[in-house]
Amino acid sequence: MCNYKIDKLPVKLSAFHAQALWSWKLIYKHNFSPQRYFIWNNLDADVTVVGSGPGGYVAAIKAAQLGFKTVCVEKNATLGGTCLNVGCIPSKALLNNSYLYHLAHGNDFESRGIEIQGISLNLEKMMAQKSGAVKALTGGIAHLFKQNKVTHVNGFGLITGKNQVTAKTEDGEQVINTKNILIATGSEVTPFPGIEIDEDTIVSSTGALSLKKVPEELIVIGAGVIGVELGSVWQRLGAKVTAVEFLGHVGGMGIDMEISKNFQRILQKQGLKFKLSTKVMGATRRPDGKIDVAVEAAAGGKNETLTCDVLLVCIGRRPFTSNLGLEAVGIELDNRGRIPVSGRFQTKVPNIYAIGDVVAGPMLAHKAEDEGIICVEGMAGGAVHIDYNCVPSVIYTHPEVAWVGKTEEQLKEEGVPYKIGKFPFAANSRAKTNADTDGLVKILSHKDTDRMLGAHILGSGAGEMINEAALAMEYGASCEDVARVCHAHPTVSEAFREANLAASFGKAINF
Ligand SMILES: Cc1cc2nc3c(=O)[nH]c(=O)nc-3n(C[C@H](O)[C@H](O)[C@H](O)COP(=O)(O)OP(=O)(O)OC[C@H]3O[C@@H](n4cnc5c(N)ncnc54)[C@H](O)[C@@H]3O)c2cc1C
Repeated sequence: MCNYKIDKLPVKLSAFHAQALWSWKLIYKHNFSPQRYFIWNNLDADVTVVGSGPGGYVAAIKAAQLGFKTVCVEKNATLGGTCLNVGCIPSKALLNNSYLYHLAHGNDFESRGIEIQGISLNLEKMMAQKSGAVKALTGGIAHLFKQNKVTHVNGFGLITGKNQVTAKTEDGEQVINTKNILIATGSEVTPFPGIEIDEDTIVSSTGALSLKKVPEELIVIGAGVIGVELGSVWQRLGAKVTAVEFLGHVGGMGIDMEISKNFQRILQKQGLKFKLSTKVMGATRRPDGKIDVAVEAAAGGKNETLTCDVLLVCIGRRPFTSNLGLEAVGIELDNRGRIPVSGRFQTKVPNIYAIGDVVAGPMLAHKAEDEGIICVEGMAGGAVHIDYNCVPSVIYTHPEVAWVGKTEEQLKEEGVPYKIGKFPFAANSRAKTNADTDGLVKILSHKDTDRMLGAHILGSGAGEMINEAALAMEYGASCEDVARVCHAHPTVSEAFREANLAASFGKAINF
């Protein structure tokens, strides 16, 4: 390694020096390097992926499998991005364990003849199990990188040229000369103007995954997917939870209204409180440590102050492109801070691609993964196709909510003639034997062709069952097609088949 001051660069510049100087100018402009030295062994790559979330790491592995010399630059110490470190994985670990605690602690176990005395919560241990799952999975990616010969550079990636990424690592700067760049830098928590997050008592989803004790009162700003999931976790562990939501319904955008209403009713029965069509005006810390949250009816008028000991700000996520060097290569963001891309995920610089949360579309791990795979297949000359209508969404509460395709409201708005088939889990034999009968399956199909247009499931295991609907829709199946597929008995998936029967023939068998 060699310390090399930029102001000592030779005055007469060769092409190489000119490129180096340009890169350094960018590095300076972005206040990038307190230590000004090179790592001289530059890397050469066919594909350099910036970011190792589900979009980036999957794309890197696929690229390597396709024969590309691949580098993945990740700024965090661990691989896996939001999803594995502070998103899908830790939240699902807490959802699962808090649900088991809730079953054991409430009267559910007792009602099944399982009598346990002295149930208590060891939050530290529950958090340790969560961290163990995160560690195993993030470590697994490092292993997969090795296995697939993806070079992992741990550093902050800056695009220093159309064919160059410079990573700031602990040891200095690593220059990667590359044929293609794939931006997979993901997203970050959207801040709430005027409310400062300390990740202790005013937390984002990240802090809410690591609270040191169960709050007495938790207020959640936002009753979207992440808000109701994390609200459920802490409610099951003993907190009184109120979710304040600007919209008039729970579950966020894209949920079918009939399902949302049923879902809200079930969550309320579990103890969650909702203040819908209500906006948060601000939050103030009191001398006793509590937090006052000022709210007002969304339409204006009625004011109220709510009090809590922990406030969870959960109003969404925004694309993360800070200090990435986009302006230097002429890439501009759209009005929502996303990187505009073509159908092949190319930015306006054809060899620079972008996928995942940093581009348009639902902010979901599986959407990022799919885009990553087809994007690098496209680089290799393959066809690039994704049907966003077939990307499922899941809320991992109990019961779960899952959907794919159109909602009834969307079909009405688009003027598409449709039929509805419904089947309640109360009529499903497996749900009944499990004493877990909340919810229903709702299928929407085209009135004339019987083609499945949307599937909406509220019930235990909905997140697994929805994949059957996604498969059917990808293949353009009719509801009769699904209804004629033999389903194992007794399974909750039989409710899915029955709802398709109802949509196709106007009647289910068991209801
Ligand atoms: C609490 C929570 C729960 C969620 N649950 C689910 C769920 O159950 N299912 C689901 O589908 N989705 C869920 N999501 C959303 C999901 O996590 C994201 O949609 C997904 O992680 C996006 O993947 P990505 O690869 O685009 O970006 P990310 O996962 O955000 O990864 C981006 C990576 O890029 C790195 N990076 C950024 N800039 C640079 C740079 N300049 N140089 C180097 N590295 C950089 C970041 O450090 C990060 O590791 C959840 C999110 C949260 C917050």
